[in-house]
Amino acid sequence: MVASKIQNINNWFDAPTESPLLIAGPCSVESPEQINATAEALRTHTPISLLRGGVWKPRTKPGSFEGVGLEAMDWLIQAGKRIGTPVTTEVANAEHVEAALKAGVDVLWIGARTTVNPFYVQEIAEALRGVDIPVFVKNPIHAEIGLWAGAIERFQKVGIRRVAAVHRGFYATTKGVYRNEPHWHHSFGLRAMMPEIKIIVDPSHIAGKRHLVPEICQVAMDLSMDGIMVESHITPDSAMSDAAQQVTPERLGEIIQNLVIHPTHLKNGASDELKSLRHSLDELDDELVSIMRKRFALAKDIALIKEKEGASIFQMERWLKLVKERTESGDGEALTPEFMHDLFATIHKYSVEYQTRLTKKEL
Ligand code: PEP
Ligand code: MN
Repeated sequence: MVASKIQNINNWFDAPTESPLLIAGPCSVESPEQINATAEALRTHTPISLLRGGVWKPRTKPGSFEGVGLEAMDWLIQAGKRIGTPVTTEVANAEHVEAALKAGVDVLWIGARTTVNPFYVQEIAEALRGVDIPVFVKNPIHAEIGLWAGAIERFQKVGIRRVAAVHRGFYATTKGVYRNEPHWHHSFGLRAMMPEIKIIVDPSHIAGKRHLVPEICQVAMDLSMDGIMVESHITPDSAMSDAAQQVTPERLGEIIQNLVIHPTHLKNGASDELKSLRHSLDELDDELVSIMRKRFALAKDIALIKEKEGASIFQMERWLKLVKERTESGDGEALTPEFMHDLFATIHKYSVEYQTRLTKKEL
């Protein structure tokens, strides 16, 4: 993609996104040298919309590096001035807000550990009453979209005009590839609830490892997200927080260069070819629904026979046979064994539930 296609923060909030917003900078501001060198290297390798840097770091365990604090705020602001780019930092209470406003921070973000707590969010929102500053709200650590929407609403209610969301993934209960589970459907849910709210993606905190950052940046574009916030450090391996997931400014430049940004007409309206294919999909879905209706009607007849014959509703042998046969009947490409298994396990589960409700005369 053309690197200059990164959006300026000033116009981004007010119009449909034509090119993504790019927020970049280190997880934490560590020293004037570190933030200046990072900012200057970013300027060399890619245009950015905002320079990020954590001043106070909410860490899971005590004893980890918790940010330099107030002193670092001024280093961040000076680094932004050096490269002519507005800056953003995380605020987690009213005191942070006051200090950030006094220092002249351009944009604030609310961290995932703060969004979970309505008391903190309200305290921060009150401290911002009457102030015209953009606020980015990260999703809460756990997958409760209502809290995310609620936090956004708290800022809107005190008069913040420019509020956006940051999808940074959700706490992973089992160890997977990513540090945080993407669960993209939560962003679709937020879009449905608040269509006017722009959503950017934080690939760094989803990935947890730097080699996975590029693919998540691309997913963000494929999902028509409105931008990305990527952690970038001049010497990532020596970073005082989140070392494994930070990329050098040079690497970020390559990632942005290789990013495929889809033409905006896809977002703003579909072509005739696309419309016609979607129409065919809609017809197939109607057929699927009608087949399901027939399938559940048969399940109803079977429930009555089971009841008459005194047979149990769930029959293990039948279930094992059905799952095995259906799982094997895919084509191995689009219809993978996982898909076939999940599809028929779901159908079977609801079929058993339906039969149970029929037998209990709940229907
Ligand atoms: C961060 O952006 O450095 C950060 C602490 O993120 P999160 O709140 O998403 O964990
Ligand atoms: Mn971080």
